[in-house]
Amino acid sequence: MKKSLKRLSTVLMSICLIVLAVCPAFAQVSETAVSCQEDLAALERDIPVITVNGFGASIYKGLSTPSEEDDIQIWGPQSEVIVQAVALYGPQLAVWLATENYDKAADALCKALVPVFEEIACDENGVPNPDTGIKTVNTVEARDAYGFENRYSFTYDWRLDMHTISAQLDEYVKAIMEVTGSDKVAITAMSMGNCVFTTYLYEEYYSNPDYNTDEGHIDAGMFIAGAMNGVPACGETFSGNISVDSTSLMRFLSEKMIGETVLQAVYYALESMYAVGVLEPVMNYANMLTDVLIDKLIDEGMLKTLATVPGFYAMMAPDEYEACCELMFATEENRAKFAGLIEKNDYYHDNVQANNVAIIQKMLDDGINVGIFAEYGYTMAPVTPENDRLSDTVITTAEESFGATCSEVDGTLGEDYVQAVECPCGLNHVSADLQIDASTCAFPDITWFGKYMNHTDSRDLLKNLVDLIMYGDEQVTIATYTEYPQFLTNTGTELIPLTEDNAVQPQPFEQLTLVSRITAFIKQIISVITALVGTFK
Ligand SMILES: [Zn+2]
Repeated sequence: MKKSLKRLSTVLMSICLIVLAVCPAFAQVSETAVSCQEDLAALERDIPVITVNGFGASIYKGLSTPSEEDDIQIWGPQSEVIVQAVALYGPQLAVWLATENYDKAADALCKALVPVFEEIACDENGVPNPDTGIKTVNTVEARDAYGFENRYSFTYDWRLDMHTISAQLDEYVKAIMEVTGSDKVAITAMSMGNCVFTTYLYEEYYSNPDYNTDEGHIDAGMFIAGAMNGVPACGETFSGNISVDSTSLMRFLSEKMIGETVLQAVYYALESMYAVGVLEPVMNYANMLTDVLIDKLIDEGMLKTLATVPGFYAMMAPDEYEACCELMFATEENRAKFAGLIEKNDYYHDNVQANNVAIIQKMLDDGINVGIFAEYGYTMAPVTPENDRLSDTVITTAEESFGATCSEVDGTLGEDYVQAVECPCGLNHVSADLQIDASTCAFPDITWFGKYMNHTDSRDLLKNLVDLIMYGDEQVTIATYTEYPQFLTNTGTELIPLTEDNAVQPQPFEQLTLVSRITAFIKQIISVITALVGTFK
């Protein structure tokens, strides 16, 4: 009797296992989505949320003296420094270019650029001048309420190597836990902050033998518009893969300038030049110049300024980093001179970036709530080849999302497109506007996309989604809530589900230019007149 019961239960268990294996939908994202309102109202926001900010905090010099009066901002570059450089070297540069004396032109360009950027430079070991740094003080205080809206914000000197910033983040996390008395934190990261956050996870969690998974302090993590898989506008330009073409430039400018009273007029003037092909020779000339000037620019310009900054190297995809190193440190001499810098960059790429996916997988396996949020709907900066990639103006959507298949920025994957990977969840991972197939993402069921989310927009629109993911009792997926399916669109005031009804079909840029619009308008008038003539005949 006992034996047959045992056999019966074994059979039942086997059936369950087979069902789970054959229909993995039951195992993962099986529940039908419900409204989040009830859960949102019931959320206990009992753990502090810390946000690791992105690139670009202002850098000052004069910090080694106690007086603030001698502090001067050296990043972002000050306009008077740029104006001065242009006034000093601009005329020389123009003469050398006009006389096709490119060697001298490169000299003049370096002389103009170096003063603008040299003060933020690091030494051969990637260490900034100790007289320089940020002045932001990261707040450490108890708060009445937690949650994304009341998040603690961690700002850092973005020039530093990721290991050093990660150690600073560790100190900050400990300070917040101390002051709040909380034994757990939730961490969200924006943009470059994701390089810092993944390094922190690698060092304090993933490769830390002392981290106790059951009692560990990392309760949840969210990767927002992340730079952890590379930023082509950084990685490709640093690897010399620079290219401008008139269509990309105009598409980019149209997003920035249309709607701005004065700029719009400038834009249309440029667009007419574009339409008649005047811009093309200018672009070709710019590309030619890049090619002939780049070698000199590296040694005399880049390696005295921006290319000494570890922070930039962290924002490169693996292949971009490799190409960049080949270009920057081409000679044995440079490799030896910058060995300390290279070692720091290698550490990040070989350990942290190479394990990004494994780190997140371990978090999920350990029951740590995770969310990934990627943004799209915009053209990237028109400085690299393949500028038709989908982006949030700064970082490409494919990189932010750990591998989504994306259409061109003004195209679609096609009417008949079928998702590339059949996901165990059984759901369709193709966006209603046919621009994104999320089935190729490393984590398709916990990756959300926000259309018309600009990289520099405030992320406050995400607060409910972030809180639901961070504080949920169970891992929230794209199938959990009706308000938060995989694809969302920004109306300007809120994020709503992207549906077939509100999905604007993208149009190729060429069809949107003024000339083509005028042509279309004239055609329309002709057809109206023809129709009228027909009526009165
Ligand atoms: Zn799925």
